[in-house]
Amino acid sequence: MEQIRQLQEANEKLKTDMDLFAMPEPLPERPEGAPEPGSTQGTSAPKSSFSADVLGMEMPYLGEGETRVGFQHFDKVENEKARVEAMQVEQAARVTGVTPRPPPKYEKTEWPLSIVFVSSEVTPWSKTGGLADVCGSLPRELVKRGHRVMVVSPYYQRGTKEDQHFAGAFDTCSNAEVGLFGGSHEVGFMHQVYDGVDFVFVKHDCYERPGGIYVDLEGQAWPDNQFRYTLLSHAACEAPLKINFEGKGTYGDEVVFVANDWHAGLVPLVIASKYRQYWNTYHNARTITVIHNILHQGSEPATTFPNLGIPDDWYWCLEYQYPEHMRAHELDLGLVVNILKGAVATSDRVLTVSEGYAEEICTPLGGKGLETILTERKHRLDGVVNGIDLDEWNPAEDEFCEFPYDVSNLAGKLMNKRALQRELGFEVRDDVPLLGFIGRLDWQKGPDLIRDSIAEMMNEDVQLVMLGSGIGELEGFMQWAENTYNDKFRGWVGFNVPVAHRITAGCDILLMPSRFEPCGLNQLYAMRYGTLPIAHATGGLSDTITRHNPFAMDDPEVAVAAAIASDEGPDGNREMADLGPGTGWLFDTMDTWSFMYCVSNACKLFRENPKMWRAMQIQAMSQDLSWYHAALKWEKIFEWSKIDPPHCEINQQHEHHHHH
Ligand code: ADP
Repeated sequence: MEQIRQLQEANEKLKTDMDLFAMPEPLPERPEGAPEPGSTQGTSAPKSSFSADVLGMEMPYLGEGETRVGFQHFDKVENEKARVEAMQVEQAARVTGVTPRPPPKYEKTEWPLSIVFVSSEVTPWSKTGGLADVCGSLPRELVKRGHRVMVVSPYYQRGTKEDQHFAGAFDTCSNAEVGLFGGSHEVGFMHQVYDGVDFVFVKHDCYERPGGIYVDLEGQAWPDNQFRYTLLSHAACEAPLKINFEGKGTYGDEVVFVANDWHAGLVPLVIASKYRQYWNTYHNARTITVIHNILHQGSEPATTFPNLGIPDDWYWCLEYQYPEHMRAHELDLGLVVNILKGAVATSDRVLTVSEGYAEEICTPLGGKGLETILTERKHRLDGVVNGIDLDEWNPAEDEFCEFPYDVSNLAGKLMNKRALQRELGFEVRDDVPLLGFIGRLDWQKGPDLIRDSIAEMMNEDVQLVMLGSGIGELEGFMQWAENTYNDKFRGWVGFNVPVAHRITAGCDILLMPSRFEPCGLNQLYAMRYGTLPIAHATGGLSDTITRHNPFAMDDPEVAVAAAIASDEGPDGNREMADLGPGTGWLFDTMDTWSFMYCVSNACKLFRENPKMWRAMQIQAMSQDLSWYHAALKWEKIFEWSKIDPPHCEINQQHEHHHHH
């Protein structure tokens, strides 16, 4: 409290000193429909515009507008002071002499396609994780290459601020009737063009209710999720045929469908079993199932099969039987319809978000029951690592961070670190490694490994901040740790994008102890911000992080050469890339010993060898993490799908039936 009062006083004094409020400028009214301050649009306003409501203690967090115990307000006045200080002292000392890599140049494709993404969430309209980011950014890249791209997703109205994002979508007035759950259901299509992409939102009552995207206000899955996403999949199949886009006509039936995760998993089945079979259309369409996380498969009791609107003779595609040890009781046959299984069985190709994960899901450990069918389809299974949105995650222009920087000069990063330390109420010290964790608090992301190592970690001279929500016990742990290690630990329970950006920019090290990780985005964001990841060697984490090489030269030129080598050719020039200092640390086994071994090594390097540290930052930041390379690989996969005959042609299901 004392600290806060002192800060308040200091702020007041500074405000008077700077004479900021002598003539307060009236703020213009926000026009109808203008972006919210702090939303992703309209970021060009100068960052240091002083006005009463953005200054110091009065400023709530952008986003949630709340402060957690132990956190200070994000203090713009202190930060402004620090900026002046930075100009004087730090700039010269932090110049690296490295020029940032220019953004990739797009050339138009010679084979433009019509592509339809189907997804249960899409940034910025709806988001719970990486899936939304992919469906929000990859389509834009494909448009830049000259493809025509539509994204079909629900029109959610949940009584939250996110609802406003849908305000820009207008009714296409082409409704569709789809058959499922023993009846005919009408949906509307709302449409918004954004960066050349047609975003189409399926309108139906079942998407308009307070709560989460997948869960109710108590955090329980909506009981009608099977209906909601069966509806989405059927509606998405109608969209290319029905919606007549002004001046450009319909997409027609030669599209490539990209069905993301189980929510869209019925698309390949509906196309093959209904449209081709009975309605004589979509013969030249192709379907690609994309697996972002195989843990969720959309399984429901087999008795719900008639709900799905799929002809009976296709039941075998969806049928799945749980192994005995996973059944509820002696009489339980463990028979379910598994939508993701159906998608894998019937789509033309299967794609997942890293090569490593593509291998893992073919093994009993990683396949979560689908390893057999995935192995059967291995010759049509690929992995492509996600890119990142270079505009949203750009240290040189981050609307949530005070101090812009890039690889040529890391002074801003240090300033962001100090600002973060102030915000967290930590001692402001450059020499202590600041560690961060961002992510869902669940089994997958491995926050329990941090919990189990906390005593040992807190024994070191480090500071640690964790942001995330999920399992109550782990949220409780964060509160406990904040009380127990008050000078070194902060926990923010919740989902907060601005805080996520500031942690990414301000920390020295990002912890990512995921048990499994299909791709993982936070380690990519971190590397772009010169924050070095420590991660479990799994899936996309081991595909994207280059282990620290203690024998490398700590030379910026070597670092840049290694970064460039890592994205040369289809899989990167590993030998060259590995000659560099590396971009982070990977631990091979999921235990506290291996994890802490990396943490200690990293902290030691941070303290004792700033030159090597800098070289690693340079290698991390010089990588091309954009969607460019990924989009080219996706494009190849679309092309391959077009070259091959469809996996399920008319009447072929009987043939398949025999070998199942
Ligand atoms: P997943 O999709 O498995 O949750 P990813 O790493 O692919 O994991 O993507 C997670 C996305 O969600 C990232 O953009 C990350 O920054 C964001 N995120 C996760 N947890 C939080 C949080 N508590 N607050 C803000 N953003 C978060």
